[in-house]
Amino acid sequence: MKFRHRITALATVGVVLIGLAAFSVLSPVLASNAEQESAFERALLAERVGVEAQDAARLGEVFVISGSGADLIAFEEGATRFERSVARYRTLVGDSALAEGPVAETVAHVAESWADVRFAVSGRAAKVIVPAEATVRITGAIGSLTASLEDLSAEESQRAREATSRVGASVVAARTTVVVLGLAAVAVIVALTVFSSRSVARPLTELDDAVQRLAAGDLERPVPPLGKDEIGEVASAVEQLRMSLREALFSLHSEIEERTTTEEALAEANHELNRLLDGARHASDEMNAMGEMGELLQADLSWDEAYAVMASYGRRLFERLDGALYLYRASDSELERKVDWGDNRVHAEHYRPDECWSLRTGKPHWVRFGEPDLPACAHIDASDACSACVPLVAHGEVLGTIVLIGPAGESLTGEQGTAEHMAGIVAAFAGRVALAISNMQLRETLREQSLRDPLTGLYNRRIMEEALTREIARAGREVTPLVVGLIDIDHFKEFNDTFGHEAGDHVLREVGAYLRDNTRAGDVVCRFGGEEFVVIWAGTDITAGFSRAEALRQGVGDLAFTLDGESIGQVTLSIGVALLGEHGDSGDALLSAADAALYAAKDEGRDRVVLALTPERPHEREALVPEADLSTRSPRIG
Ligand code: GH3
Ligand code: MG
Ligand code: MG
Repeated sequence: MKFRHRITALATVGVVLIGLAAFSVLSPVLASNAEQESAFERALLAERVGVEAQDAARLGEVFVISGSGADLIAFEEGATRFERSVARYRTLVGDSALAEGPVAETVAHVAESWADVRFAVSGRAAKVIVPAEATVRITGAIGSLTASLEDLSAEESQRAREATSRVGASVVAARTTVVVLGLAAVAVIVALTVFSSRSVARPLTELDDAVQRLAAGDLERPVPPLGKDEIGEVASAVEQLRMSLREALFSLHSEIEERTTTEEALAEANHELNRLLDGARHASDEMNAMGEMGELLQADLSWDEAYAVMASYGRRLFERLDGALYLYRASDSELERKVDWGDNRVHAEHYRPDECWSLRTGKPHWVRFGEPDLPACAHIDASDACSACVPLVAHGEVLGTIVLIGPAGESLTGEQGTAEHMAGIVAAFAGRVALAISNMQLRETLREQSLRDPLTGLYNRRIMEEALTREIARAGREVTPLVVGLIDIDHFKEFNDTFGHEAGDHVLREVGAYLRDNTRAGDVVCRFGGEEFVVIWAGTDITAGFSRAEALRQGVGDLAFTLDGESIGQVTLSIGVALLGEHGDSGDALLSAADAALYAAKDEGRDRVVLALTPERPHEREALVPEADLSTRSPRIG
């Protein structure tokens, strides 16, 4: 049953009870009161009627006694007043049950008696007075009237008293009823309290607990069913709310979780993208640097400039690594350090190829740059450091190595990306460096080839002519002497014919090497053409020049040539020498004078040194050459 229905039912019962109680309390009181009022009014009227009657009777007696008209008029007035009182009394009691009772009889009797009195009075007046009879009759009538009226008054008074007594009884009954009703009310209140406690307070408390739990965020404990009244309905609604909230919260959690997962994945992807971008940017920087280096190295640089460029870009590309470039040394085939960069952790000035794993295996050798770990090369002092040796290979030829060394105890792959990336960069760097070195070596070879005679390795004629022009100019500036010697191998055609062209080439190489090895660093030796050579002795006077030419002649003459273990004999030299200024002022003039002297030497029998003729003193060679020098091998020939 619903709460409002209970309340309505209770209220209805309460109203009915209160109505009944009020009726039961008030009705007897009201009835008694009305009866009392009626009784009192009747008693008052009875008394008044009595008084009026006595008044009228007294006036009648006065009239009887006096017999005057004035008294008769007064009597009539009094009688009229009495009749009105009686009529009113009758009106009052006429419809009541009392109308049939003794009071009504008394009134009727009074009325009759009064009629007698009136009649007696008015009869006396009409018949003129018969004093004795009339007086007796009037007095008797008055007497009986008075007695009746007293009875009436007494009876009505009695009834009034009884009515008062009944009112009192009703009031007592009402009081009792009020007390009983009070007790009943208390009982009802207690019952209502118990009812409230059981039907309202407890469910409300449970509902409040449930709502508090909800407010505190506890969506797991269900709201208990609290009946089918309004509280129960509210509880049911709250339970539905809890379920909805729980569902919404669950889906919210799922959504948040999903969103968090998505956001995490996004963040991770973003991080990865940034990493890749950084890597790409870094790789782009590296490739740009590599390109720049390649372009720079394509310029016609000296070796020192090229090494400086390589070191600079090596430092830029491998920030935390020290590095060095090693190239094969021609003299002993060791690796020689050409340049290094960083903090000087690369100590070895040179090392043998067998001390380097990269040269032994022909592959880059990485130590602590990632797995698998390999032993360090013997040429690296800091064996606890991470290092890399990369062969410099160009056109299939190993030119040297790039050596990189990092801080001890560290792996550098984390710093500059993966080991593969690092290996790629180092390989690219080594490739470009190798190519540049190869190109420079090629250029140098080509340059050398353009400068030197390929068979003997001596400067060619063009370079000799340039050198002669340069040295003549310097001699002029510095006022120093200069001697030119033109050398020709005697009967070389015959030698070729005898031992073959290959033997001739061998002799040409050997003679050239002897000439180079037996001249000073500042002297210029070149192959002039065929089996002819030129030597420029700068800063040398004719005496010394003649002596040196003579020494060369003797030295070459003493050489015993062999080819493939077979002796191929010896050769002699004819040499013409000329002095700058004395025999010519220009290169051509000097060479021409020397050539003339050479022809003279041939003419004089070969295997000798002949001084050029002085243009002004064509027969005075002796003056320029010491006697001893002129008589070394052959007598002078003019
Ligand atoms: P002379 O004593 O008069 O100088 O006699 P010659 O035979 O040395 O002079 P000639 O001018 O008649 O011959 C020069 C020879 O040198 C001819 C040539 O075969 C030889 N010759 C020139 N250049 C070369 C070369 O590059 N290799 C070889 N094997 N022989 C050469
Ligand atoms: Mg010749
Ligand atoms: Mg010759």
